[in-house]
Amino acid sequence: MNADSRWQIVEDGFDPARANTYETLFTTGNGYLGTRGSLEEGHEGALPGTFLRGVFDHHDSAVIDLVKAPDWVALDIVVDGVRLDVTSASIVRHRRVLDMRDGSLSRETVFEDSEGRRTRIESVRFASSADEHLCCLQAHITPENHAASVVVRSGIDATRHNLDRRPFYADPPPADPQMKWHKWARSRHLDEAGRAASDDGVYLETRTIDTTITIGYAASTTVSVSEEPEVAERYKHIEQVSRAQVAAGETISVEKLVTIYTSRDVAAGDVRRAAQDELRRHRDAGFTACRVRNREAWAAKWADSDVTIDGDDEATRAVRFSIHELLIAANESDPRVNIGANALTGERYRGHAFWDTEVFMLPFYIYTQPETARGLLLYRYHTLDGARRNARETGFRGARYAWESADTGVEETPKWTIDGAHRIWMGEEEIHITSAVAYGLVAYVAATGDHDLMTRYGAEILFETSRFWADRLEATPEGRYVLSRVVGPDEFHEHVDNSAYTNHLVRWHLQQAARVYAELSDSSADELAALSKRMGLTREEVEDWLDKAEQIHLPSVTDAGVIEQFDGYFELATLPVEHDDNDMPMYPPGYHHYNLAGTRLLKQADVVMLTYVLPDEFSDEVKLANYEFYEPLTLHKSSLSPATHSIMSIEVGDPGRAVQYFRRAASVDLVDNQGNTEEGVHIASAGGTWQMIVNGFGGFRVRNGRMTFKPWLPPDWEAVAFRLKWHGNALSVSANHATATFVLSAPEGCRETVLVHGREVVLPAGTEVVVGLTRDDPA
Ligand code: BGC
Ligand code: BGC
Repeated sequence: MNADSRWQIVEDGFDPARANTYETLFTTGNGYLGTRGSLEEGHEGALPGTFLRGVFDHHDSAVIDLVKAPDWVALDIVVDGVRLDVTSASIVRHRRVLDMRDGSLSRETVFEDSEGRRTRIESVRFASSADEHLCCLQAHITPENHAASVVVRSGIDATRHNLDRRPFYADPPPADPQMKWHKWARSRHLDEAGRAASDDGVYLETRTIDTTITIGYAASTTVSVSEEPEVAERYKHIEQVSRAQVAAGETISVEKLVTIYTSRDVAAGDVRRAAQDELRRHRDAGFTACRVRNREAWAAKWADSDVTIDGDDEATRAVRFSIHELLIAANESDPRVNIGANALTGERYRGHAFWDTEVFMLPFYIYTQPETARGLLLYRYHTLDGARRNARETGFRGARYAWESADTGVEETPKWTIDGAHRIWMGEEEIHITSAVAYGLVAYVAATGDHDLMTRYGAEILFETSRFWADRLEATPEGRYVLSRVVGPDEFHEHVDNSAYTNHLVRWHLQQAARVYAELSDSSADELAALSKRMGLTREEVEDWLDKAEQIHLPSVTDAGVIEQFDGYFELATLPVEHDDNDMPMYPPGYHHYNLAGTRLLKQADVVMLTYVLPDEFSDEVKLANYEFYEPLTLHKSSLSPATHSIMSIEVGDPGRAVQYFRRAASVDLVDNQGNTEEGVHIASAGGTWQMIVNGFGGFRVRNGRMTFKPWLPPDWEAVAFRLKWHGNALSVSANHATATFVLSAPEGCRETVLVHGREVVLPAGTEVVVGLTRDDPA
């Protein structure tokens, strides 16, 4: 592998069976939008999609959807009357490359029609990271062995539907590409609201039906050596049509610039002007200038977030892919949106945000893109009213965050599985999501020192959610507090009492709220007084939180230190677990997601997750005992699970499976090991992948307000390198088997003290500090 290929994901040849997977992998985006990597001309069985952050709609669908927005890439090339695509022509050569350095997708396809006429199409496209409303596409068309009349149709297509229910197939679903997606029930979310055409380009405006969000796309396409383009109009579709006569071997070029605005960005009446004005500016600057700006913006992001693994190019590439996905999932410019479980790459989970954000992804943003982390946390502030409603509607005070959250924060978890066969209880019972929000807030403030966020927004979140916990906890006759009927991270077990994960986090959450209350009484008494007045919050209520925290019932612990996952778990049956060719566990014969409740088998890390998120509450022995007990029972049926196991295997000093778990998490989408990448990337696993490098192999934790490191590398890795932002400064870290090297970038005179395997190391700004690594030192 050369240096470039560590930055590239490549598709060689066109395979209809893999095409939808590549559509997901080749999503281009910038945090404002994501566009799946579908072929510009489409193909039978394609699942294209552009998703705009925050644009949700409920009309016509069982559950609120992240809307499939109009398609901006549509580009048909008609050569001597034949519209080129994989059905009308044969493919002589096809290669596409996602260049993660600048988020661009490039393509080279040679088509041959039934007359033997070969035409080469090369294209590159990207959603600009410098200008989030801008999308760019450039194509070169070369009739290789013939002179041709070429027609280029470049449009905006708003005929797309979201997929809704999956039809129930008794047998495996048909492989026929025509049936694959078409048979899904479809939901309609867009009405056309206006259109326009001028010499400069075309404009199409749509509006979401239920949420009435106006969406405007302005597009301008120029084709070298063509006559003036015409405009062709159809239902929910408008395009520019350009014609050119091209000599054999001659190349013509097409440049398509598209700008997108919605009434989430500007007033509904200004959407068109905003899109057209911005389009004019970029057109005057030209495609090349747009591309340069995009590259510069990406270079700056990578400078803060790149990770390398010397000695394992494939691992470097997989980690970079994860980081690329995180960088296109969100940006800093909109504090009213979050990241769905498949980010902006597909419709699975309908764009809804889960605990995935705070627990799996947020650490990446906190330590590399803190402004984006701040925006993601502010989303929780802006959806606090929705969370209050969730609490109220289930009869409780305070605020309860939705297990699945969309635009308002109101609970959006579907009540039934997609085939209608099973009731889903997560919306009622998977309440640990609320403590994930607190976890994210506390981690963010510790790493950034952004106390302003805590004072102005975070405190209210912590207090309202603590108020919910205090009310949700049920008193026992003995004066203890229990939480009945919940689901912990392991979703195989519903309606359980006293989930260890949940109860420990609730205790921690209440304690953190009381700590922040005490800190604000010292540092920001006026702000605290105003907030307390608004909330009707008293010191007595805060003391009550602490009392309840103290008295929370925690499930039993064996002599060996094994924590019972929930009350009664140890009484459940043990089943043997077989492994597949990949050495990964399988469902026992006859078992599936919905009938394992009577067994000890787990869907994903649960108690092990607990010992990861609250590292200071458990001794090394307890962490080891729980890892050894639960790991063999865990089926990893969520992509969130392997990363946690990789990290914890290193932490407990049993790193034998760390690399295997690392590969499974890091390549979940590149090798499609969950079998559903075609529907979207597993963005939480991407966040987990970053954590495996930094927190796993780098051994990074924050303890008592300080950065601590315990690097450990697999034998065949030579070194890992990563970067961290800390209180506004930047730290680059690299470690090999013998040493760790740190460079702190900070104003002159600044210094940081870190712990490396328990030893204090002072890092003066601008100085390379090399530390010897001996793992036996006390931690
Ligand atoms: C997930 C749940 C989710 C449900 C509905 C299931 O596959 O495990 O966490 O709430 O889908 O979206
Ligand atoms: C997992 C959850 C996760 C959700 C979304 C489910 O399968 O069990 O932990 O939040 O997927 O990624």
